[in-house]
Amino acid sequence: MPAPRALTVMARMPKKSGEFELIARYFAPLAAGAAGAFALSDDAALVDLEPGQRLVVTTDVLVAGVHFRSEEAPGDIAAKALRVNLSDLAAMGARPRAYLLGLALPESIDDSWIERFAGELAGEQARFGLALVGGDTVATGGPLTVAVTALGEVAEGRVLRRRGASVGDRVYVSGTIGDAALGLELVKGRLAGAALMLDDTETAALIARYLRPEPRLALGGRLAGLASAAIDVSDGLVADLEHICEVSGFGAVVRAAALPLSEAAGHVLDAEPALRATVLSGGDDYELLFTAPEARAAEAGRLSADTGVAVTEIGEIVEGQGVRVVDESGRDITPARTGYRHF
Ligand code: ADP
Ligand code: MG
Repeated sequence: MPAPRALTVMARMPKKSGEFELIARYFAPLAAGAAGAFALSDDAALVDLEPGQRLVVTTDVLVAGVHFRSEEAPGDIAAKALRVNLSDLAAMGARPRAYLLGLALPESIDDSWIERFAGELAGEQARFGLALVGGDTVATGGPLTVAVTALGEVAEGRVLRRRGASVGDRVYVSGTIGDAALGLELVKGRLAGAALMLDDTETAALIARYLRPEPRLALGGRLAGLASAAIDVSDGLVADLEHICEVSGFGAVVRAAALPLSEAAGHVLDAEPALRATVLSGGDDYELLFTAPEARAAEAGRLSADTGVAVTEIGEIVEGQGVRVVDESGRDITPARTGYRHF
């Protein structure tokens, strides 16, 4: 016998808990590892530091339609929201300790979405060694917004700064550059012919780099005393190197031929050389970009072996200002648009 109509509709209704139920059911378990979070049942949390450690604080706000596509899986959104903050901690040389989570939830978000989102955070916390200590949960008529504030610690005197590069310093970057920007082009279906050059594994690898950046925490922790300046590549390689140059008071030259590219990115560029501008100015790589004195080049060269993350010398700091990208014959090929800007 068919169920009465009203019941059928009820069964299809997504479950939507109230604010306090959501916090107690999905978020309080994520605070279990932090005694000072009081199971998210108090007004604020206590965070203790060991003597000689400094608190490092950073926040990033991710808005649906701007920083991620609303159709992305809740787990991918959770991982990215946390990881972009951990990348900032890495760029300061800090270790993650705790984080706060601000959520503005549109009507379309139900319990099953939150469950998947929180489930992913549980895995990410275990992997990166931090716990949830607080946050805020509000309803919005606007797009889904996820704001993570990450707390880290770094020993006094071991913090990395953007400022400090000097003329003659070598410029290094970790991992490979441009994968995330190409991954975004792929998910948006904008790579056309170049996409045909990729097999399924390569396509998946580029998209994964866009969805799940890898914060270079181990590398960041090794750079104190070696790097003269450091930043994570979030806006784009050239734009972020410009940030180091501006606060350090110098310019930089980058050799395009030295840029570390993944095999997949190499195939895309072979098919469509014009996409090199996307590689140079596309954001979302979350690699570490740093400078070190020439005299320390041997030490910098050992970082790859010590951390398991490729570290490549791509250029040097020079007199003047701005970043110039040159090809093998020294021709200036700096892209007109160097990185992402919101305003
Ligand atoms: P108040 O109104 O006093 O700011 P809230 O009701 O917003 O308190 O929050 C109650 C507790 O739940 C606080 O400890 C807060 O940090 C925590 N909390 C609220 N939303 C979240 C969230 N999305 N993630 C983690 N903790 C949260
Ligand atoms: Mg509140």
